[in-house]
Amino acid sequence: MVIEPTPVLFHELQLDFKPLYEWAFGERISHPETTARAESILWSLRRHDDSFDVRAPKAVPLGAIRQLHSYQLLTLYNTAAQLPPERTFYPSVFPKSEQAHPDPTNIQHAGCFCFDSGTPLNAKTLEAASWSVACAREAAVILRKEALPITYSLSRPPGHHATRNLFGGYSYFNNAAIAARYLRRHGRVAILDIDFHHGNGTQGIFYRDPKVLVVSIHGDPREFYPYFSGHSNEGGAGHGVGFNLNLPLPGGCDGGEYMRVLQQHAIPTVQNFGPDYLVVSAGHDTYAKDPVGHFGLLEEDFAELGEHIGRLGLPTLIVQEGGYSTSDLGHIVRVFLDGARRGVGQPRLRRAM
Ligand SMILES: [Zn+2]
Repeated sequence: MVIEPTPVLFHELQLDFKPLYEWAFGERISHPETTARAESILWSLRRHDDSFDVRAPKAVPLGAIRQLHSYQLLTLYNTAAQLPPERTFYPSVFPKSEQAHPDPTNIQHAGCFCFDSGTPLNAKTLEAASWSVACAREAAVILRKEALPITYSLSRPPGHHATRNLFGGYSYFNNAAIAARYLRRHGRVAILDIDFHHGNGTQGIFYRDPKVLVVSIHGDPREFYPYFSGHSNEGGAGHGVGFNLNLPLPGGCDGGEYMRVLQQHAIPTVQNFGPDYLVVSAGHDTYAKDPVGHFGLLEEDFAELGEHIGRLGLPTLIVQEGGYSTSDLGHIVRVFLDGARRGVGQPRLRRAM
C-alpha cells in the first residue's frame, strides 16, 4: 500500500526563541529545549525521500488559544514580548498567598502564572509558542479536511505541561490540547501521551471531559517531574470519571516492559473508547540516551511504537513534545514516524475484548 506524503507543520519563527539556561535542582544548566532539536528533526525528515511534506502553517486564530488558556496568561506573554531583546526573565518567586493579586502586565509577577524555574520568558517566547500551537492546530485541520491517516506537528516549544492558567515544563501553550479541542468539535478524541514526563496540563484540561480520553505512559511521578500528577489513581472527575488513564513506569524501564504496558493497557483502552481521532503527544525523551528522561527505549522500540499507533487505523495527529538527545533526536523521530506510516499500511490491530 502506497501512503501519500505525511504533512509536517513547521514555521521558521519557532527557531527565534533561544532559552540559554535554566535553573534545575539549584544549579544553572544549559537549557535542553534548544532550537537544534527542531533543526535535527527537520533535517532528518527532509532527506532521503519524499515521505514527508514540510509546510508552514497560517497564524493560529487568537480565539483558539483563548478558548483554552486564560486571558491573564496571554497578557503575561505579551508583557514578556516587550522585554529588551537581551533580557530573559526566570520566575523565582511563586506566591501561595490568597492575598497575592497577580498583575500580568508586571513581569515580576510571572511566578504567579508558572510552576517551575525551568521555563523562561523573553521577547520571542510568545511568537515561537504561537507558531508552535499554529502547527498543531493546522495539522489537526488538515488531518480532518484532507482525510489523511497521519499528520505531524513539529511543535517547539512543547506544550503538554501547560495548563489553562500556568506555564512550566518548557511549555507555554498546550499545543496538543488546542488541536484536540478543535477535533473534539467533530468527534470523540483519544490523546495518547508517550512523553517520558506526565502531561499534567493535558490531563487537567480534559479531566472532567468524557468526550476526550487521555492515556499517558510516563516515568513514575513519585520520582520524576512533574511529581504532583500522573499517579495511577487519577482517573478523571465528574462526567470525566473513567476517561483518564495514567500508566506510570519505574526509571530504567526498557522497551520490553514499555511495549507490554502499551499493548495490554494503553491500546485496548483507546480502542474501547472508540475515538474518531487520535492525538499523540509524542515525546522522545524515553530514548535510552536522552539526558532528561530515564527510560531505556532503543531505536527499534520507536519503530515498533510507531507501528502500533499506525495499526490502530485512526486518523492520527502526532504532536512533538519532548526529546533532548539532540544528536539522535531527528533520527529517532524519523524512525517513529516511518513506523507509524508503515503501520497504516498493515492490518489493523484487533480490538481487545
Ligand atoms: Zn518530557
